[in-house]
Amino acid sequence: MISMSLGEPDFDTPSHIRRAAQRAIDNHWSHYGPVAGVASLREIIAEMSNPDAGICYQAEDVVVSVGAKMAIYNAIQTAVNADDEVIIPVPSWVSYSEMVKLAEGKVVTVKTRYEDDYCMTPEQFRAALNEKTRMVILCSPNNPTGSIYSKEQLRALANVLRDWPKVMVLSDEIYSALVYDGKATSMSEFDELADRLVVINGVSKAYAMTGYRIGWMLCKDRAFVAACTRLQGQQLTCATMVAQAAAEDALRASQTCVDKMRQEFAKRRELICKLAAEIPGWKFRKPQGAFYLFPDVSALGTGDEVAERLLEEAHVAVVSGAAFGCPECIRLSYAISTEEIKEAMKRIKAL
Ligand code: PMP
Repeated sequence: MISMSLGEPDFDTPSHIRRAAQRAIDNHWSHYGPVAGVASLREIIAEMSNPDAGICYQAEDVVVSVGAKMAIYNAIQTAVNADDEVIIPVPSWVSYSEMVKLAEGKVVTVKTRYEDDYCMTPEQFRAALNEKTRMVILCSPNNPTGSIYSKEQLRALANVLRDWPKVMVLSDEIYSALVYDGKATSMSEFDELADRLVVINGVSKAYAMTGYRIGWMLCKDRAFVAACTRLQGQQLTCATMVAQAAAEDALRASQTCVDKMRQEFAKRRELICKLAAEIPGWKFRKPQGAFYLFPDVSALGTGDEVAERLLEEAHVAVVSGAAFGCPECIRLSYAISTEEIKEAMKRIKAL
């Protein structure tokens, strides 16, 4: 069995980061810490998140949580009241809609198109907005599609928001370090969104630290940050202190390890795209970021059927696109070795 279903890097956490965690243990980082995170970690997060031009974040704008997941959950719980609408372009990561439902909000999905590289257009966005809209959730680079919104595309969405000043933007940028051609634009490049933008990021994907569980939100609205911090105070007290020390080291140390992992993912991306192009009935966009391929397999059956067949007959585990709101696709993670990619694609092709 080859698993192409997981959403995490297959690399070991770099050794200097592991040593930082060990040092923190030896230095007795065994006590409760500040609710919003260790001050020096919040400082470096703000520093590293600042775009060349755009919103300028400070340590006070950061809330460190147990993974980006908890940061997203806190932001949604804080922003969304019963019956508020939240716009989610699909395909999307599975948890956004469930989190909105937990906050008793209403999910409004916008089905993006293959022809648009699975990016929501300004027209689609405008059509989904109304008086009840509280938030829009964007994810670029995207899980599951690997798409990236260009600066012009984000500019166009920001322009639409001018007519809707109360709508918040949650921009999940957890894959921002895993971009293969150039750099992804952050929503934080748009100054005008400062008081209603929540940017999400974390160490899971960039530094192969999924199990450390450190992620964060950045927001210039201090009342919002205070509310998220209060909520977190009752839920968590604080993110694990040893993991925060390791995350701080990850951000402050040389970023060569990130470059190396990105280069390896880039090689795998080329390989999987080349091999996937040989599979009859698959139609896909070359992913621009993250580590997923998201072929449309509707010529062969539904995503559920194809995933089932790959599992039963090729012994390759993938995820049906249905999980992401796109039942005609399947998602393959290429966060596995090149040998495994070759073997998996050989088996799939032979079916
Ligand atoms: N957002 C997206 C789009 C993701 O794919 C994931 C992880 N699968 C997360 C957030 C959560 O990341 P973390 O490990 O930091 O909780």
